[in-house]
Amino acid sequence: MLEVIFLGTGGIMPNKERNVPAIALKYKSEIILWDIGEGTLRQFNIAKLSPMKIDKIFITHFHGDHYLGLMSFIQTMSLWNRERPLHIYGPKYTFEFVQNYLKSGFFRAGFEIHVHELGEARLKFGEYEIWSFKVKHGVPALGYVFKEKDKRGSFDIEKIRKLGLIPGSWMKKLEKEGKVEIDGRIIHLEDVTGKPKKGVKVVYTGDTEPCERVKLFSENADLLIHEATYIDKADRNESYHSTVSEACEIAKKAKVKLLALFHRAPRYTYEEYCTRAREVCNYKFIIPRDFDVIKVGEGYELSSIR
Ligand SMILES: [Zn+2]
Ligand SMILES: [Zn+2]
Repeated sequence: MLEVIFLGTGGIMPNKERNVPAIALKYKSEIILWDIGEGTLRQFNIAKLSPMKIDKIFITHFHGDHYLGLMSFIQTMSLWNRERPLHIYGPKYTFEFVQNYLKSGFFRAGFEIHVHELGEARLKFGEYEIWSFKVKHGVPALGYVFKEKDKRGSFDIEKIRKLGLIPGSWMKKLEKEGKVEIDGRIIHLEDVTGKPKKGVKVVYTGDTEPCERVKLFSENADLLIHEATYIDKADRNESYHSTVSEACEIAKKAKVKLLALFHRAPRYTYEEYCTRAREVCNYKFIIPRDFDVIKVGEGYELSSIR
């Protein structure tokens, strides 16, 4: 089960109704952050989340609405005597931008900061992986995938009986080692378990124009958080972002289970955006607001911590 907590859902600049991008992924005892726009610390505070639980921050690109909240996080963590290192991931130039950023003001981080510049990568972290992929936004920019490891199916009593076996302590050994020998027979885990359960897959595009890589990396995702800055092409005066209909088209092609439309331009009110999005998107979608939470597991559970 993964909790996707939307802390900032609007693009370009914050306004009264919503903040700029930040998505917290709560997985077991950890919180991973995707983007950290200005004011994210305040949003954390309102959502009663602790910045100290964050070890990994993934920045999609270096436009202000996606990273300007980093400094206040680092200063606060220092103030609270953080000792654990913090890992910051991002596209080309992340090292340079973070170093320059940290040199400003009368403060020094009191803990180690490790910066990782990524191209397209697969990072393995215990029970999940984070994949990065290149998107099209006129500057180096990445999208990210959270992919939980697939889990083995549970023991199938019918299969065990059919093999003439009696459930017992051998099952623990089998679980640990993957195979076990019983009366000269080798039994493999898949001989006595059901279908493996697919791990959760959630994708975040960051800012991008419609892009083939997004489609490829989103295939069969449980949730695709796609930027849809504008409703339709008539509203768009540049080509570095997507529209609602373009995001819908990609979700449909990638067969994602649920689409979240994200990063709406400040010109739209939430109500206007929803009404017009319903007219142009015929795919299964939601339009999250700040502090909405989607629990992604075998199904979905929507709630809010407003
Ligand atoms: Zn943006
Ligand atoms: Zn941008």
